[in-house]
Amino acid sequence: MKIAVYPGSFDPVSNGHLDIIERVAKVFDKVYVVVAINAQKKYTFTIEEKIEMLKKVTCHIPNVIVDQCSELVSIYSKKVNANVIIRGLRNFNDYQDEISLFQFNRSISPDIDTFALFPSANNLFLSSSTIKELILFNASIEQYVPKEIVSFVTKTIKERQHK
Ligand code: ADP
Repeated sequence: MKIAVYPGSFDPVSNGHLDIIERVAKVFDKVYVVVAINAQKKYTFTIEEKIEMLKKVTCHIPNVIVDQCSELVSIYSKKVNANVIIRGLRNFNDYQDEISLFQFNRSISPDIDTFALFPSANNLFLSSSTIKELILFNASIEQYVPKEIVSFVTKTIKERQHK
């Protein structure tokens, strides 16, 4: 069975993330979409909220499992018998970060590989922080976030952005 792990902050999940998930789910038998906790980052949404949003927007993909991970992603991947970690590559900044992460994961778990996917054209410039910026300036996020979560994301970011 081909199993992949797609880790990220998903703060919040965007159409860019969903596009990657849908494409990967066509190639692998099982895809674990995993909310990873990076101690150096400050998040807007709680883990429970991120998991709920991810479940909502992936419920049409039967081979996707949403989970969280508080250990290293390579250790988590071994635990669920995945041998591939999925990452998205938007630009040169992502490339620089991802190549280090790849080497790091490889040094811990040489038998787990990383596959990087390019985003579809309309998601190239999309990030979770862009979504927050749009809301801050009262612009619509409808074309960037799955429709099921647009109002929750807008309301929550508005409530928390000044805290
Ligand atoms: P990070 O790991 O930097 O916190 P995220 O959690 O937002 O990033 O995203 C998880 C993964 O999804 C990363 O590999 C990131 O490059 C990728 N990604 C983020 N936004 C997009 C997008 N718009 N299109 C494709 N991939 C993306």
